[in-house]
Amino acid sequence: MTTNCEEAWAKCLNIIQENLPKPVFNTFFAPIVPLELKGSLLTIQVPSNFFYEYLEAHYIELIAKTLHRVIGSDAKLEYRVVVSKDDVTERPITVRLPGGEIPKNITNGKRTIIKGDNEKIGVYSIPGVEPIQIDPHLNPDYTFDNYVEGECNRLARAAGFAVAGNPAGTSFNPLFIYGGSGLGKTHLANAIGLEVKKNFPDKVVLYVDANKFLTQYMQATRDNNRNDFIHFYQMIDVLILDDVQYFADKQGTQEVFFHIFNHLHQHQKQLILTSDKAPVDLNGMEERLLSRFKWGLAADLQEPDFETRIKILKRKTYKDGIEIKEEILEYIASHVTNNVRELEGTLISLLAQATLNKKEITLELAKGMIDKLVKNTQREISIDYIQKVVCNYFSMSVDVLSSKTRKREIVQARQIAMYFAKNMTKCSLAVIGNAIGNKDHATVLHACKTVNNLIETDKAFKQDLDEIEKRLKM
Ligand code: ADP
Ligand code: MG
Repeated sequence: MTTNCEEAWAKCLNIIQENLPKPVFNTFFAPIVPLELKGSLLTIQVPSNFFYEYLEAHYIELIAKTLHRVIGSDAKLEYRVVVSKDDVTERPITVRLPGGEIPKNITNGKRTIIKGDNEKIGVYSIPGVEPIQIDPHLNPDYTFDNYVEGECNRLARAAGFAVAGNPAGTSFNPLFIYGGSGLGKTHLANAIGLEVKKNFPDKVVLYVDANKFLTQYMQATRDNNRNDFIHFYQMIDVLILDDVQYFADKQGTQEVFFHIFNHLHQHQKQLILTSDKAPVDLNGMEERLLSRFKWGLAADLQEPDFETRIKILKRKTYKDGIEIKEEILEYIASHVTNNVRELEGTLISLLAQATLNKKEITLELAKGMIDKLVKNTQREISIDYIQKVVCNYFSMSVDVLSSKTRKREIVQARQIAMYFAKNMTKCSLAVIGNAIGNKDHATVLHACKTVNNLIETDKAFKQDLDEIEKRLKM
């Protein structure tokens, strides 16, 4: 039984590791001890309550999907939290998470419950004649209260607040929020949704990630449910579409969204869109859709300045009831500068380190950790890593890249690996050729040309490449 449990957990870790940046994996998953596997119930031990809460809040979906794959669709999970001997107030708690089939409502107090396979349930199948009850899929933590104001987000925040007070009644329709990754787009978009719900409980609000919209649409087309899909979205009063850049080059989805957009706009419904680029810089989008995006207000989010970074850190520590010395916060704020997600990540790793080692949070601890983190984020993607990701994507083993075969798929995978190695590392063509299949620099050059040509002429190929690039940058 025990080996069974360890084996199962080892398999889970393999999958989880593939899906997470190394520091996150090491911090949160490496310390977990598998205790028991009874039928489909897996029990794991985590070092503290903080771990349990953090895992639940951030990785439950990944964990659930992994368990379903390894243990089966009826997999269940229990956490056991280690009690420290010197802390008698902390009791062992065992939490049972339901399996995956039925998507329960997302939150239950502060505890998240496995969301199930949202893609599959297809929210659009909900019939809706009377005032409809739709789970708005908003994150209850992403409120305006928790959204620190600074020079970097003043306009977007103010516009968002105005929209929430008067949905579709301002000239900010659509409200288009754009900015780099980790700067707070998703948070702000959610805050608007929550505020609308607070002001107008009867309004139907829906937050949807563009990727999810895409998947739903594809499924609806396959199941001949396209009309239901469209009708569902036409019932929404405030539609929040996150990361609309994912619609690039997806013509079918763009077209259907164009109709939904028009319908909502004509019926005085509010649209909120986010994107990692300004409308003018969005490639692969139909012109008529882009021009709609420009109808309302496009507001950007910038990198936070020092003062805002400090405020954000203070807000987080205050919210979590943790006290950290000012000098430590200042140290963090002056070293982690370009994105709020990293800022939070640093704070969280620091807390994790401190609970894990039962240490106090000191400036030394912070310094040590930031040194590591900064090194990690500046890490150059290695050629080995590129080969691994490319082969993984095409489900082939890395070894075949150095085989002599002329099989088309293998030659192409090799060329793609060379292409990314040239673009993402500082290695010379000779070094790249040597590392990938022991070829010369001319072969690498030729590979890059071939790949560039294909990107321009072959849509499916380009999609493969985009997906690989995304995985490389994860
Ligand atoms: P994006 O969608 O732009 O990639 P997110 O909205 O996911 O970024 O933000 C990343 C993290 O940073 C989230 O945890 C969010 O709560 C936090 N965050 C971003 N901006 C702020 C802010 N102004 N105040 C407080 N937290 C913020
Ligand atoms: Mg986001």
